[in-house]
Amino acid sequence: MKYENTLEFAKQQDSSDPLKKYRERFYFPQMNGREVVYFTGNSLGLQPKSTQDHVLKELEDWASFGVEGHFHARNPWFSYHEMFAEPVSKIVGAKPAEVVVMNQLTSNLHFLMASFYRPTKKRYKILCEYKAFPSDQYALETQAQHHGFDPADAIIEVKPREGEYIIRTEDIITAIEKNRNELELVLMGGVNYFTGQVFDMEKITAAAHSAGALAGFDLAHAVGNIKLNLHDWKVDFACWCTYKYLNSGPGCVGGAYIHERHHKPSTPRLGGWWGHDKQSRFKMEKGFNPMMTAEAWQLSNAPVVAMACHKASVEIFEEVGMEALSEKSKKLTGYLEYVIEEINSKSQAQSSKPKGNSQMLEIITPKDARGCQLSIVAHGMGKSLHDKLTAAGVIADWREPNVIRCAPVPLYNSFEDVWRFGEILEMSLRTQ
Ligand SMILES: *Cc1c(COP(=O)(O)O)cnc(C)c1O
Repeated sequence: MKYENTLEFAKQQDSSDPLKKYRERFYFPQMNGREVVYFTGNSLGLQPKSTQDHVLKELEDWASFGVEGHFHARNPWFSYHEMFAEPVSKIVGAKPAEVVVMNQLTSNLHFLMASFYRPTKKRYKILCEYKAFPSDQYALETQAQHHGFDPADAIIEVKPREGEYIIRTEDIITAIEKNRNELELVLMGGVNYFTGQVFDMEKITAAAHSAGALAGFDLAHAVGNIKLNLHDWKVDFACWCTYKYLNSGPGCVGGAYIHERHHKPSTPRLGGWWGHDKQSRFKMEKGFNPMMTAEAWQLSNAPVVAMACHKASVEIFEEVGMEALSEKSKKLTGYLEYVIEEINSKSQAQSSKPKGNSQMLEIITPKDARGCQLSIVAHGMGKSLHDKLTAAGVIADWREPNVIRCAPVPLYNSFEDVWRFGEILEMSLRTQ
């Protein structure tokens, strides 16, 4: 695709964008009487305008029915979570019986590890990516300890090579093979939160399986961002949060996927009444009899008010579909890349420094393995750059010492947002 860094070009792209109407369905924060350039949907997605109605509906039914709402609410609470199976399975590329909306991300990770990290003296190692999100690191560290292992010995982190930012797939595969006798579990992000690198989940899963280990993924930055095919990739399990690309609100309910081959009573798990067979659940009898779907991992009855927020957003995803989102995402992120590269070449032309590796803004997210996020190293610059961007109406994420993470979200960001970001970035750099 041929891009131009002009307002006219950006407006033209927006007018022919098949998803343009979706922007209107979200609330944008305002600054100085104007919508901000919101590039942090990877941290907290914007609120759909339909969310309030969905929540209100449940509050009204609670007021009208009290406990009877479990069966008589417009969306009966007893089976509320079941409404998500179909649409969410499409978002993650699974069968409806393989997904369940429950708990939150880190709790789901622990509960899934209760099933799928069953270390023995000989086979106890967990392989993960270097610099995984801290919550994942703490989960793995304490899981190893919980089973009596020393995390320094039990956890293998695969690092980028010297001088590189991304982790090569071949290095992950080699590490899996090297540890094949002791490896119990491969647990990685689907998309690394810091670099935006998409991992090759299919290859990694196949390598884990051939080493006799299981493969699970934390999809916090992948779900609703990239196309996933968990079932066909034979991924054993996965979990995600719904407040990033899934726009379900701060700390909203999480999601989990468990491949159908693990849906059997003999799979070890930590149980609760909501995972028990539906027909006999209210008999309140002794003896846990798990369902034969991912629902068997549920513990508690559904947090319906939070789930109403999730429902509002999932309905939009159901309408749009990951195919169309992914298509726009490639164009929109490609445009951001183009704009940044143009700013780089302009600044290089103006700079008296010799040519070479003197890029001011270095995009570290791999071109051929990314979703919508670009992580940019701002060489020689500090937090004051971020402060200037913010003051001028850009909400982007700053990670010390000098990385800006920008996520133009295809569902609600526009080409004009990208153009405006470029203008503000250039101006902020000039006055550094
Ligand atoms: C956002 C994020 C989390 C947050 O975990 P919560 O349990 O939802 O607080 C965990 N892991 C990754 C990879 C994330 O990106």
